[in-house]
Amino acid sequence: MANHDYEVHEHDVIVIGAGGAGLRAAIEAAAQGVSVGLVCKSLLGKAHTVMAEGGIAAALGNVWPEDNWQVHFRDTMRGGKMLNNWRMAQLHAQEAPERVLELERWGALFDRTQEGLISQRDFGGHRYARLAHVGDRTGLEMIRTLQDHAIHQGIEFHMEHTVAALLKDGDRIAGAFVYERERGRCLVIAAKAVVLATGGIGRAFSITSNSWEYTADGHALAYHAGAELLDMEFVQFHPTGMVWPPSVKGILVTEGVRGEGGVLRNKDGKRFMFDDIPENYKAQTADSEEEGWKYTQGDKNSRRPPELLTRDHVARKIMQEVREGRGSPHGGVFLDIAWIKARVPGGAEHIKKKLPSMYHQFKQLADIDITQEPMEVGPTTHYIMGGVRVDADTQMSTVPGLFAAGECAAGINGANRLGGNSLSDIIVFGKRAGEYAAQYAKTQSGANIDTRQADEAARRALEPFERSTSGEGPYQVQYALQEMMQDLVGIVRNENEMQRALVGLAPLRERAKRVGVGGHREYNPGWHAALDLHNLLTVSEAITRSALERRESRGGHFRDDYPTKDARFGTINFVVRKGRDGQMEVFSVAIPEMPEELKRVIDEMQ
Ligand SMILES: Cc1cc2nc3c(=O)[nH]c(=O)nc-3n(C[C@H](O)[C@H](O)[C@H](O)COP(=O)(O)OP(=O)(O)OC[C@H]3O[C@@H](n4cnc5c(N)ncnc54)[C@H](O)[C@@H]3O)c2cc1C
Repeated sequence: MANHDYEVHEHDVIVIGAGGAGLRAAIEAAAQGVSVGLVCKSLLGKAHTVMAEGGIAAALGNVWPEDNWQVHFRDTMRGGKMLNNWRMAQLHAQEAPERVLELERWGALFDRTQEGLISQRDFGGHRYARLAHVGDRTGLEMIRTLQDHAIHQGIEFHMEHTVAALLKDGDRIAGAFVYERERGRCLVIAAKAVVLATGGIGRAFSITSNSWEYTADGHALAYHAGAELLDMEFVQFHPTGMVWPPSVKGILVTEGVRGEGGVLRNKDGKRFMFDDIPENYKAQTADSEEEGWKYTQGDKNSRRPPELLTRDHVARKIMQEVREGRGSPHGGVFLDIAWIKARVPGGAEHIKKKLPSMYHQFKQLADIDITQEPMEVGPTTHYIMGGVRVDADTQMSTVPGLFAAGECAAGINGANRLGGNSLSDIIVFGKRAGEYAAQYAKTQSGANIDTRQADEAARRALEPFERSTSGEGPYQVQYALQEMMQDLVGIVRNENEMQRALVGLAPLRERAKRVGVGGHREYNPGWHAALDLHNLLTVSEAITRSALERRESRGGHFRDDYPTKDARFGTINFVVRKGRDGQMEVFSVAIPEMPEELKRVIDEMQ
């Protein structure tokens, strides 16, 4: 490709990603009166947010008037094992209710209580039923609402475009280098501020609930642009993904099933979750099956069943059953919602009404009727707590003009995310990122585009075509990476295996540099996979290096060579950045002291 052979667009702010975080950021930036461009890999409405099922956590207090931001803050910090950025956890708990009500004003139709308020359901780790939902299709309603609103705000949409590199002007951000997926053309978008809202990294592992879009692009773009990544060792393995048939392994089975009374059993029919309830959750957990059932049906004098303990704990308990030979035929355990028919009038219809997507998912993909028989489930890579290190209030990264929000940013979740807290995170911090990116852009003159950076990005993007006949296909390398990460840096980790992963990354990186792609540039998935591969390798290294440093077990990070929490690691986060020599470096930072009033909130609610 000849130098400078690309279109140039210009905006004050560009947002990369059209999930909940990106759409909310773009809406807010446009409301501040700046010009906004939004770039996304797929068609509008197809972002990962659309797959979210269970609900949005917000202390609306509709079902439990006792609920308030303080309890939500406390639950989030406790779920995150106190490694969270407390300021983000505070803002999130305080602002989530208003963001949900705003969605309602913009047209979202949530399920209702008898009194006509937004209904709220139970999820693990939340003290009260707190998740606003639309059956088990909450993400669809959220994305539909945000999208309908966004298209009237004068935002310029660049759909089916992938950002392959960020461009800089000295230290500050200057824009992005983009390729058009459909026609393969390259373009440059100049911008004074960039908001990353690219979601997660699930495709670095072989078993995942994540879609093809989750290839860690934002994490890698930020890292190569000089930003810092935080908490990368904390990957969330959701306890319940489908395990059978193999073609659908990893697809999520929402926690909503357990919230509606679904129970976990091993092959002997035993409810094993009662066997091991962590000390700090004992007081809030039911000690009989009857009490747990009553809780899921809204009895305020009962305590939650152990199936609704935090995800890290439930996932490890399932793994233990499987490893010790008490698993189901296909390497999982049984999740049974059909049993509630004995308790609920019109039980089968009730299940279909509460969990319509789950009913169809199992019927169509596994030929299982969940109103009649149990599901087989096991842990699946679901979410990353780690991401771009940002300022809590503004969401700006350590690179001036580069902002991040949603799953690709870090801080709010600490060592473990509570279910439902992502949908609220993305609208709370999406709004903030859009607002502060616009404010920042207003203070800046136009950034200069360095054409050499764009040319270099184009050269790198197109080089796999030069090896169309000689190079290895990208998918072989991708599969090898995914298998290695799953086996060596997965749900149970140790020094020896992670060192092997680190060693294994070097040859994979070499292979990735040599992959070849045939055909032309128009909608060529092999080409896209070849480019995504570099992002997956970057993020895999960041996860492995951070996980090696954290010599303890906490939240989503479990090491069988250090199986307990260690207080020395309870006050630090690990940060990854690109060193001057181009190599990845990891260092620890102390978590700032929490203000007294927030400490009191946590202490008073123990
Ligand atoms: C099956 C499933 C169920 C879930 N259920 C819940 C739930 O009930 N409650 C909850 O709180 N959370 C849930 N989650 C988690 C939650 O859905 C996600 O964490 C959240 O939607 C992430 O939103 P986001 O805006 O950060 O990213 P996304 O919604 O994934 O959007 C990412 C966007 O970035 C774009 N993009 C990525 N890379 C590039 C690039 N290089 N160039 C251009 N564009 C790019 C993509 O095209 C997409 O538009 C669930 C997740 C899954 C997988």
